Amino acid sequence: MSRSTQVAIIGAGPGGYTAAFLAAGQGLEVTLIDPSANPGGTCLYRGCIPSKALLHAVGVLEESSRASVMGLHFAPPRIDLDRLRAWKDEVVENLTSGLGGQAKLRGVTFIQGSASFIDGKTLLIKPGSGESDEKITFEHCIIASGSLPSGIPGLNNDLPGVIGSTEALALADIPDSLLVVGGGNIGLELGSVYAGLGSKVTVVEYTAGLLPLADRDLVRPLAKLLQERFANILLNTRVSNLKSVDGGVEVEFTGKDGQMTQESFSRVLVATGRKPNIADLGLENTSVETGPGGVVVDERLRSSEERIWAVGDLTPGPMLAHKASNDAHLVVDAILGRTAPTRRAIIPSVTYTNPEVAWVGLTESEARKEGIKVKAARFPWAASGRGHTVMQTQGVTKLIFDPESEMLLGVGITGHGAGELIAEGVMALEQGFSAKDMAAIIRPHPTMSETMMEAAEVFLGKSVHFHAPRRR
Ligand code: NAD
Repeated sequence: MSRSTQVAIIGAGPGGYTAAFLAAGQGLEVTLIDPSANPGGTCLYRGCIPSKALLHAVGVLEESSRASVMGLHFAPPRIDLDRLRAWKDEVVENLTSGLGGQAKLRGVTFIQGSASFIDGKTLLIKPGSGESDEKITFEHCIIASGSLPSGIPGLNNDLPGVIGSTEALALADIPDSLLVVGGGNIGLELGSVYAGLGSKVTVVEYTAGLLPLADRDLVRPLAKLLQERFANILLNTRVSNLKSVDGGVEVEFTGKDGQMTQESFSRVLVATGRKPNIADLGLENTSVETGPGGVVVDERLRSSEERIWAVGDLTPGPMLAHKASNDAHLVVDAILGRTAPTRRAIIPSVTYTNPEVAWVGLTESEARKEGIKVKAARFPWAASGRGHTVMQTQGVTKLIFDPESEMLLGVGITGHGAGELIAEGVMALEQGFSAKDMAAIIRPHPTMSETMMEAAEVFLGKSVHFHAPRRR
C-alpha cells in the first residue's frame, strides 16, 4: 500500500505531536507515526510524566513524616504498590489518550508503527498491529524520534538486575537495595522515588558532584538532604564491572585514585545519559548528515536534505521536552515559509527532587569557565516568611548579573516549587530585565516569588529581610 502526505512526522513525543498539531492547525495534511498506541513519546509514557507522578507520591510521604513538627501525627504509611502503579498508569493513560483524541479532532492521521526512510522522499511504515507494511511519500518530513539510554560504556548493561529508567518507572517492586549509576536528573529523581518507597539507595557519580551542570551552591542544600535519605553517595567514582549474582548484581567501583571496591545490590539502575535515537531510521538512504549529537541541522532545524527536518533530543541542545516543543514551533514556521526567530537559547532546567533545583541562563560556573565577569546575589529562604510557614527554609534564590550594566544574566533556585518559580526568571531574561526591574516588581506577600525581588535587592544593597553588606 502506498499513500502521500504533506508532512510526515517520525515520533510522537512533545517534539513530534507539537509539530503535528501546529502543522495541522495551519491547514497542512499531517501523518504522525509512533510505536505507541497514542502520542506522548518518552516524556509521557516513560519519562517526565510517570516520574513526576511518583515523585509527587513520595513527596506526600515526606510531607506527612515531617508533619509531627506541627503536632500532626500520622500512622506509619502503608504503601499499596499495586495501587500506586495503577494510579501512575492512569495519569499516563489519561494524558496520552487525551493526545490521541486531540490528534483526531485536529485531523492528524496517527499511525501506530515504526518508520524508516527508503529514500529522501519516502518512508516505509511497519505497523505495530501486524498489518502489511506501507509506503508514504512526503513533501516534508520531521524527524522527532527522541533519544535512548546510552548505558555504561564498555560494560554489559543487559544483565539481569540491571535496569534503565523505563523499567524503574514500571515499578515492578521495591528492591531492598538499589545502586543508581549517574547523579544527573534521572538518577536523582528516580533514586528519590525508590528511597522514598523504602529502598536503600546508593548513587555513584563519575564527576566530583551531583548534578554537574548546576552551580554548587544550588546543589548543596539538595545534596545535604540526599545524604540523609540515601544510604550512600559515591563521587569521583565509576562503575568498572557488573556481574549478576544470586539475588542481585555485584558491582565493582573504581575511585579517582584507582582504588577498587566491590558491593552487591538487589538492583542497579543505569542513568548515565541518553543518545539520539537515529540508528534504525534508514538515514543512510537519504543525504541527511548525522554526527554524535544526532542529525546535523541548520539554525532553522533543516537537515542537509532540503525537505527533512529534525527536532528535540536528536538535535543540538539539552534533551528536554520543552526544548523539543519549542523546536517544533520553529520547524513548522520554517515549513510554512514564515520568517521566525532562530532557536532560543534561554531554556530552563529543572531537577524535580525535593528540594527542586532549577536554573536558566548563564550559570556562575559557566561564567567562570568562559571568563565572563558576573556578580551573584543570593537570598536564603531561611529569611522568607512564606518559607517558614511551609517549612521550606533550606532553599536559595540566586540572581546573576552583569556587574557593569546590572542586567540579569542568569537565575538559579533551589527549593520547593523552584520549577514553577524559575518561569519568572525565564520571563525576566527574555524581557532583558535589570536588577532594578527585578526589584521594582511588586510580588504578593507572603509568597516564594518575593525571593526574586529580595535577591535583586541584595544585589542593589537594599534587602529588607536579609542583611547583606552594602554594595560599593
Ligand atoms: P544526565 O546527563 O542528566 O546525567 C548523567 C550523569 O551520569 C552525569 O552526572 C554523568 O557525570 C554521570 N555519569 C556518566 N557516566 C557515568 C558512569 N560511567 N559512572 C557514573 N556516573 C556516570 O543524564 P540522565 O540523568 O541519564 O538523563 C538523560 C537526559 O534526560 C538528560 O539530558 C536529562 O537532562 C534528561 N532528563 C531531564 C529531566 C528533567 O528535566 N527533570 C529528567 C530526566 C531526564
